[in-house]
Amino acid sequence: MDCSGCNKCTDVNCSIETKCQQLDRSLLDKWGAISYPIYQTATFAHPGLGDSTGYDYTRMQNPTRKQLESIVAYLESGIDAIAFASGMAAIATVMELFNPGDHFIVDADLYGGSIRLFNEISIKNGLEYTAVSLSSEDVRPYIKENTKAIYLETPTNPMMNVTDIQELAEITKEKGILLIVDNTFLSPYFQNPLKLGADIVIHSGTKFLGGHHDTIGGFVVVKDEKLDERLRFIYKTTGAGLSPFDSWLILRGIRTLAVRLDRAQDNALALAKYLKTNKHVTKVIYPGLPEHPGYSIMKKQARGFGAMVTFEVNSAEFAHEVLNNVQLIYFAESLGGTETLITYPITQTHADVPKDVLEKNGINDRVLRLSVGIEGIADLICEFNRVFAIAEKETTKG
Ligand SMILES: *Cc1c(COP(=O)(O)O)cnc(C)c1O
Repeated sequence: MDCSGCNKCTDVNCSIETKCQQLDRSLLDKWGAISYPIYQTATFAHPGLGDSTGYDYTRMQNPTRKQLESIVAYLESGIDAIAFASGMAAIATVMELFNPGDHFIVDADLYGGSIRLFNEISIKNGLEYTAVSLSSEDVRPYIKENTKAIYLETPTNPMMNVTDIQELAEITKEKGILLIVDNTFLSPYFQNPLKLGADIVIHSGTKFLGGHHDTIGGFVVVKDEKLDERLRFIYKTTGAGLSPFDSWLILRGIRTLAVRLDRAQDNALALAKYLKTNKHVTKVIYPGLPEHPGYSIMKKQARGFGAMVTFEVNSAEFAHEVLNNVQLIYFAESLGGTETLITYPITQTHADVPKDVLEKNGINDRVLRLSVGIEGIADLICEFNRVFAIAEKETTKG
């Protein structure tokens, strides 16, 4: 093994598994605590007039949050990561970059909360947007004089459409507009959009980064100083910062990001293959299946396929029986934790999305979404065998 390039413990060449363990050691407390302390304080004393420890008031900066922000910036290869009280707070802050009259383009299939934000808040604030299926359509004809940004997820929630980030980045660079990627579904462990040419990366830290369904958080990561300055200004002004305790929880979650995601991904692929064999399952959408239209793009731009599997069953009644009979798996919204969750997008994550948009995106009352956890795969398969048997009995009787 060649270790000649490995002379610094925070080396940019470190593997991502190692990066997940690297706290910024210059920030460690004087006792050398390895679990970074929770600085539960609102304000900080000044050493003297005109002097600051670097920390003045927790809305602006906090040492625990700073430690988390450093590691997320490091994982995403950004110059800064800003930690928010939720993923939505992160997205809402990014939207404050724009002015009335600005236009932006969004992918047609997105997290329901993002669509709600754009429809109910951004438009009221004087912005306009166009939804385009970025995975299948050429975006160029939609770019107007006043277009300022393109916003997307890849793979999308919940339909798992895959967009070539690099290809899109060439267009946004040429046009001088921002490329914003919500990277929640893959986490920095599997995909780094900034490296592929994106300008802003967003995460719901609630999901894979936190990893335990025990806290809500969000991130904005950038690689440009000016953009960072502007976002930091909006951040300190609007005040949606992540609390010290929640910062600590996500810091802790990140330590196991690599092992959790490896395991969850193995389970996801096995479940996707299993689901394909069931006669009540009419469609399985997982970008790690070679027949998925985004498979080769995923191979090129990501290091893995993630742990989200969407599938369609043959009737709404069957879907309802599945939801009502899960035991090992939780029927809950959210994703990215150690436990497997099953979600019904049409009544949960995408309940506020207009009907025509749902229809266009293929989100119907037969679509179910799995966030696959790290349980034993045999147990997950047995759970489905049991649930499918009940659902079959209930939907075919009478
Ligand atoms: C959950 C989610 C969000 C919103 O994050 P919160 O932490 O729930 O506010 C945004 N984007 C995607 C893709 C998500 O899954």
